[in-house]
Amino acid sequence: MKKLTLALAIGATSLSALAAYPEKPVTIVVPFAAGGPTDKVARDLGVVLSKGLNNQTIIIENVGGAGGTLGAGKVAKAAPDGHTFLLHHIGMATAPALYRNLPFKVLEDFEYVGMVNDVPMTLVGRSTLPAGNFAELQKWLEANKGKINLANAGLGAASHLCGLLFQQAMKIDMTTVPYKGTAPAMTDLLGGQVDIMCDQTTNTTSQIASGKIKAFAVTTPRRLSTPGLDKLPTLDESGLKGFNVTIWHGLYAPKGTPKAVIDTVNAALRNALKDPEFIKRQEALGAVVVTDARVNPADHKKFVEAEIAKWAPAIKAAGQYAD
Ligand code: ASP
Repeated sequence: MKKLTLALAIGATSLSALAAYPEKPVTIVVPFAAGGPTDKVARDLGVVLSKGLNNQTIIIENVGGAGGTLGAGKVAKAAPDGHTFLLHHIGMATAPALYRNLPFKVLEDFEYVGMVNDVPMTLVGRSTLPAGNFAELQKWLEANKGKINLANAGLGAASHLCGLLFQQAMKIDMTTVPYKGTAPAMTDLLGGQVDIMCDQTTNTTSQIASGKIKAFAVTTPRRLSTPGLDKLPTLDESGLKGFNVTIWHGLYAPKGTPKAVIDTVNAALRNALKDPEFIKRQEALGAVVVTDARVNPADHKKFVEAEIAKWAPAIKAAGQYAD
């Protein structure tokens, strides 16, 4: 009887502790510059996530650099007290193959909260490029070998992976220009300082619609239905057979964050992913919110594990590494 009372008391304490969580603002680290595609997803998500977290303020902290590995490394070392999270993308899965001395272990140093969305990428170029479609771009790239600038968000970024595979498929080496995120890269593309870039639709859709940049193709195996992107051919149908880069975003916490916290944030995430306004905003930018099992912590971790195995051979074949 005594044991039961004690068990009930412990249960009540942890329940009330949980009901109070979080008692202060929660930080989501975005490992890229403000105003870019990962940042946009995090800020939109933060608004709806807050509803499931006592309406606490969600602070977005941009820690850009080294293709997302600086921000991820910061969260890996943060206090596991339920107040620091990481919103990252496919870079979680490609960094282990790209960095010889990655200062964190993707599968061991984080608690997995769940996956947020799948996001296609687009191949875009400065508006002054003398090419109006992919075939003309191809000709221009051939004619300008050695002079082409390809922007990306550093080794490990989605734009890096996509650009790497694009150069390989085209058999043309380009000068890569790394930024702390594709927000500043986009500024330079708009200004004509760089020629082309692969970037998430969450960053390119409105710029394409305004005609300030040129869009040549989508990186997904199928065309998109998103208004404004629906006329774009796939790279696959444009001659780069099998080209397929779709990226995703997920939410992570430092290893050791209490399970009760992960469960609470996961429940808030599930509700956020059902929020009609959030879904609408994501869809308008070409992104698809997760509705399958990958929203579960364990399933998302399995998915990331599979992504690590999927991308490692392609990265090794491309021979790109950093220390
Ligand atoms: N789009 C960037 C990337 O290439 C990241 C960002 O700036 O959000 O990964």
